[in-house]
Formats: sequence, C-alpha cells, structure tokens
Amino acid sequence: MSRIAYLTTPIYYVTAQPHLGHAYTTVVADVLARYHRLDGDDTYLLTGTDEHGEKVFTAAAEAGVEPQVFVDGVAESYVRAWQALRISNDDFIRTTETRHVNVVTAVLQQVYDQGDIYFDEYEGLYCVGCERFLTDREIVDGKCPDHNLVPEKRKEGNYFFRMDQHREWLADHIRSTPGFIRPERFANEVLSILSEPTGDLSISRPRT
Ligand SMILES: [Zn+2]
Repeated sequence: MSRIAYLTTPIYYVTAQPHLGHAYTTVVADVLARYHRLDGDDTYLLTGTDEHGEKVFTAAAEAGVEPQVFVDGVAESYVRAWQALRISNDDFIRTTETRHVNVVTAVLQQVYDQGDIYFDEYEGLYCVGCERFLTDREIVDGKCPDHNLVPEKRKEGNYFFRMDQHREWLADHIRSTPGFIRPERFANEVLSILSEPTGDLSISRPRT
C-alpha cells in the first residue's frame, strides 16, 4: 500500500556557509526519501534556509552588506551544495520568499482570530545568543550558561501565544498517541516541559 512520506531537513540558518554538519543531516534525509520512493510511497523531500533573525542581521553587518544581499549569497551556496551532493529534494524553501510569508501570515491570522494570540509589553533579561528572554532559572551566576553572555535588560512589545491554555490537551494527545514524537525520550522530554506552567510564548520580534 502506498503511503505518504513527507520529509524535511531543518531549514538552515544562513549566518554562515554550509558545512559538514549540514551535509550530514541533508544526506540522511535524502537516503530516507530515496528509500520511501523505492518502496512506492508518495514522497516529498523539503529543505531550505531560515533567513530571519537578529543573528543574520549581525552577520550581514559584519560582512558589510545589506541583509538581503547577504542571505541571497548564503542561500545560493546551500542550493549549490545540495546540487553537488545530488540531493533529491523536491523543493528548496527560503523564509524570505513571498510564498512562504503568505502561508505563515495566513496560519498566524487564523490562530489570532481564534483568540490564541495577544499583544503585550514584556520586560526581562534577553540573551542575544539564544535570541529570547531567559527565565530566572536559566540564568547562572548572572549569565546565560549556553553563551557565557550577560543577558541585557530589554523591554519589548510582542505578540504572545497562549501556550498555557494548550498544555493539557497537548500532553494528553502525546500520551495517547504513541509515536507522535519519536524517539520516545523526546516525547518524555516534551511531556516533562508541559507538566508545569510554561508561560505564554513570545512569537514576534519588534520592528526596529
Ligand atoms: Zn544564550
């Protein structure tokens, strides 16, 4: 029986040129896609680049070029790398493409219309490396332990997703649907995070 196999690599962050780690991940996905095609499955393999974020902005500034010029150059390197490795991806998506922006906008609008997104001012300690506000628990000796950076005090107006309202049914769904998250240890990790209040999630960045 023909099944549907939808596979995606991570969309790679374009702060730098592709390296062996990206190639490894993409080749693994390609092997899996080829296996599914041989098995007669309706298969789709996606890869691409994530071209938004403060780190991209900073990398472009360091390279001395406009962000769009910078990401165009790095994205092109990824396309050429996968051609050289004969990766059989069906599509290559860039988050700066209009077709991507349109879908994300439509999804967020629907979630907003359902009342799950609201606007609020938020003040906290922000790690530039993590690109997010840290909780008190995450800060060790006044620093982000992952980046060894002192977080900055920032106040931002942001859109928030009402995550806490969805914790219970999501945890129930994960528990009652074996294989929903694989491998199982990651399902357990997510369940552990969902077992206590997560706070609402900041899902935007201010336009500066
Ligand atoms: Zn950090």
